[in-house]
Amino acid sequence: MLLSFAPGCHRMFQQFGLVLMLTHACNLRCSYCYNGRGSSGTMSLDLGRRSIDRAIASLAPGGTYELAFFGCEPSLHVDLLSALID
Ligand code: SF4
Repeated sequence: MLLSFAPGCHRMFQQFGLVLMLTHACNLRCSYCYNGRGSSGTMSLDLGRRSIDRAIASLAPGGTYELAFFGCEPSLHVDLLSALID
């Protein structure tokens, strides 16, 4: 299901799943990788926090959310990951 989060949209959810792509960097060298070797951008802490705040603001009372981290290799930025789950 595609959800709209246009300004002014205040739809509330009982469950919400948020997947944050922390980085395009990766320390592996899979031959089939489509990511491209020159891409290593990293999500800012501010953007990550705003994304989590937005997900929480979308929860109906008693609702739950799941937070997952994705990337190429998100554990390369474990400090950022830790700060976001604090
Ligand atoms: S991003 Fe994924 S596919 Fe690409 S090198 Fe890393 S682990 Fe392998």
